[in-house]
Amino acid sequence: MECYLDSCDKSDCFGCGACQNACPVRAISMQPDEEGFRYPKINAALCIECNLCRKVCVASSSERFFNPGNGEFFGGYVNDENLRRSSSSGGAFSAIADVFCMGDYAIFGAEFAPDFSVRQSYVTDKSHSCKFRGSKYEQSDVSLSFIDAKKFLQDGKRVLFSGTPCQIAGLKNFLGRDFENLLTVDVLCESVPSPLFVRKYMAYLRSINGSRLKNFAYRDKFNGGWECYLMSAVFEDGKRISVSRWFNLFYSAWFAGLMSRPACQKCRFCRRERVGDISLGDLWRIFKFPRKIYGGGLGTSLIIANSPKGCSVCAQLGKSMRICRVDEKLVVCIQRPLRQNMAHSEKRGEFMSDLQTLDYRSLRAKWLKRPPLRLLFSAYVLGDTLKRAIYNAINFIKK
Ligand SMILES: Cc1cc2nc3c(=O)[nH]c(=O)nc-3n(C[C@H](O)[C@H](O)[C@H](O)COP(=O)(O)OP(=O)(O)OC[C@H]3O[C@@H](n4cnc5c(N)ncnc54)[C@H](O)[C@@H]3O)c2cc1C
Ligand code: SF4
Ligand code: SF4
Ligand code: SF4
Repeated sequence: MECYLDSCDKSDCFGCGACQNACPVRAISMQPDEEGFRYPKINAALCIECNLCRKVCVASSSERFFNPGNGEFFGGYVNDENLRRSSSSGGAFSAIADVFCMGDYAIFGAEFAPDFSVRQSYVTDKSHSCKFRGSKYEQSDVSLSFIDAKKFLQDGKRVLFSGTPCQIAGLKNFLGRDFENLLTVDVLCESVPSPLFVRKYMAYLRSINGSRLKNFAYRDKFNGGWECYLMSAVFEDGKRISVSRWFNLFYSAWFAGLMSRPACQKCRFCRRERVGDISLGDLWRIFKFPRKIYGGGLGTSLIIANSPKGCSVCAQLGKSMRICRVDEKLVVCIQRPLRQNMAHSEKRGEFMSDLQTLDYRSLRAKWLKRPPLRLLFSAYVLGDTLKRAIYNAINFIKK
């Protein structure tokens, strides 16, 4: 891939923000395009042509940021049920922060801004890191957070930095060397959806409810399990609107490849070799894994320790988690982000043009498909015990 700053081809830019952080004269700003995705823009009047931005570009650089791909696979969930309820999967991120962050430290993660856009920020007190809990499925704005992280690292503080793999690669390119006091955590990610959709959906919710948005969650476990991806909006008048993935245009359009970032189609990070010291995801198809890490359907994390540093942290997670090793081959087979990226649909162009012109109601009427009954049956009728029994019976017959 070429660097976007030379090619001006949007499919060459992951939006990782490394170039913006590297520019010594702050000549680069990240500007949203008509689909809501951010791209670097150089202010020619400020630029001193040092080329540092191109040197750190994740798209065009060598692959030195990857770990070898011989890590250890775990599944588990935190013992604290409230913590698990406020996390997207099994709450592994908070358990990792607990183990790694001692003495002076900073934790970097994705939080909601007041307008519910998503930005990278940091805390220096673990008790404030709850704002990072829960997946926000919009690419976070890293802004100048790599510079902040570097300052903490140079001061000898421990830094836990979490983000998408391209953001972690951007951080590594920006830092240019390894720091013993840095622990990186990447999430299993196979594309990010258009921020424009979320803005439009939130505006629609506000218009039908007539009250201001107080809280928003992409995956709420309030009234439904971990697997149904319940998207919830809570308003200032106390009303809550929740829609599960099967009836939610956000998830159906995103998972169908209708509104992903153009460069995600060329993503280099959807593979077994990982960038972060630790990778986090959901342990989907939990019925295929040991029953002791099921946890009553409130979510189980997939944790991959990719480096010696990651392994040493994961070895201590048993203090606050119910955790065990899981079969790597089975996980790789289930988890597409460990094998390949999400392809764009051939209808992406049509959907994105409708997204820019139609109101939310018309967009939903045109694009939301009825979910297949077999999926609803599996999600709402078959419980873990039944799925596990069917899975074991099929395996027994195959043998
Ligand atoms: C864009 C995106 C796509 C994902 N796709 C998959 C997938 O295909 N399969 C899968 O198994 N898992 C995926 N995940 C990961 C999954 O949703 C959970 O984030 C992960 O399992 C961690 O959950 P947890 O319970 O350990 O901790 P939680 O407390 O729920 O995790 C929060 C962690 O995720 C980080 N985070 C949240 N939102 C963002 C964001 N927008 N950008 C960067 N970091 C963020 C926070 O900083 C924090 O470190 C994705 C996550 C994101 C953000
Ligand atoms: S060439 Fe140097 S000064 Fe110009 S935008 Fe890139 S990093 Fe900034
Ligand atoms: S460094 Fe990242 S944001 Fe900048 S051009 Fe390269 S891929 Fe895009
Ligand atoms: S799919 Fe790849 S390029 Fe897209 S956000 Fe995820 S890690 Fe970055």
